[in-house]
Amino acid sequence: MTRKKTLKDFTGDDLLHELAARFADQQYRAGMTMSQMELIVWETNGMENPAALRALNALLARMPLEAPTGKRCPKCNKRVAVKAKDRTRSLRTMAGALTLTRNYHYCEACQLGFYPLDRALELPEEGELTAEMEKRVLDFALNEVYGECAARWRLHYRTSASDNLFRRVVARVGAHCEGADQQVLQEELKPALPTTPDALVVEVDGSMLPIRGLEPVAVVNGLGEFAPVLEDALRVERAEEVHTVLWLGDGAVCNWRLAEQLLPDAIQILDWYHALQHAVDCGKVLLGEESPWLPLWQERSKQLLAAGEPSAVIDELMACLSLLPRRRTNRDTLEALDGLVRYYRANAHRMRYALYRESGFPIASGAAESAHRHVLQVRMKRAGQHWSMRNARKVAALRAALRTAGPLDVYDDIQRARARSKPRGHYWRRGHYRYAREGTRERRRCLAGSSD
Ligand SMILES: [Zn+2]
Repeated sequence: MTRKKTLKDFTGDDLLHELAARFADQQYRAGMTMSQMELIVWETNGMENPAALRALNALLARMPLEAPTGKRCPKCNKRVAVKAKDRTRSLRTMAGALTLTRNYHYCEACQLGFYPLDRALELPEEGELTAEMEKRVLDFALNEVYGECAARWRLHYRTSASDNLFRRVVARVGAHCEGADQQVLQEELKPALPTTPDALVVEVDGSMLPIRGLEPVAVVNGLGEFAPVLEDALRVERAEEVHTVLWLGDGAVCNWRLAEQLLPDAIQILDWYHALQHAVDCGKVLLGEESPWLPLWQERSKQLLAAGEPSAVIDELMACLSLLPRRRTNRDTLEALDGLVRYYRANAHRMRYALYRESGFPIASGAAESAHRHVLQVRMKRAGQHWSMRNARKVAALRAALRTAGPLDVYDDIQRARARSKPRGHYWRRGHYRYAREGTRERRRCLAGSSD
């Protein structure tokens, strides 16, 4: 009669393998994904080490062997035969590097190739990383310059990762982010509100980024591309049902045009600081940059604007003109004054600041201003950084997604949005190039000087 072996019967490597096998016996559940296996192994064995790798391999070995029979096409659901057996895929998992061997199927009708095992494990379609690894690499890459990522990765995980790994993951997941249906993406990133809120504040502003070969800055996504994305975001926020919608912005004409198109009932508010800055800039031209009267000018403008009387500001400015020393009433001063008067007249209905304050409305687009910093600048406007247009788009989209969904959810949200988006085959690539071309056009328009 054979006795069941106990751990005492094993030594050296055999003992380690036996321990891993027992771990797998305990932990394996049918239908586990690679992420589920990796996380269990990570909790007990840590990151990228031999013990972890043994445990993960033992879990994978518990999966039923892949039979070389026909498998259902993910698109048309018809069974398709194996096209090629035992194709290998090298993967870097949270436990370490391993190689999977699996069968390749090809559906002629759908022109779609697929690996049933990869799908069962929910592996990313491309690349050398598992989803759990990609998630972590992406988090580093979106928060730190690539060179620093490698050093910080070593500190956290004691293994190496090249600058290029971070770049590749940003390119890959960035393409998923851009390729997804943008409304679906917004829905995934921001869970639907349980009830319709009483008020919604929309703040629109452009942000500048340093782009390679274009000095000093350029538009990455023009309004033409931004409008549909914003429209989707407003739908997710239930803007149509909200009682009070406020639209805050600087004086850029296209901004208000957008407001009228997307939310014609919104109350438009000119950002307080932009309104005041225009008065101060005009004061500088009228009085001179170094004038001791400048603070007084600023204080008076502030008072008049706060009282909600842009016309009173205009009247005072006109009166000022007569008081100016003759040498200062040159063409520049007249132009500055004329510019300010026109700006205030065009925006007068958006400058009822006293009324807004009474109603408890925000009058400054502080959220948008701080978003420049915490969404884009902290990662994309470091000293010496210059982005290619293509990478700038991806990183900007990913940073926005990250700040919307948070680091725990952003990766999965993007993947879910991608899975829910209507399959476009390889179209996204074509779309990608089209975006790139539009980007160039937007860029020229921007450089031609149509920013605010
Ligand atoms: Zn098919």
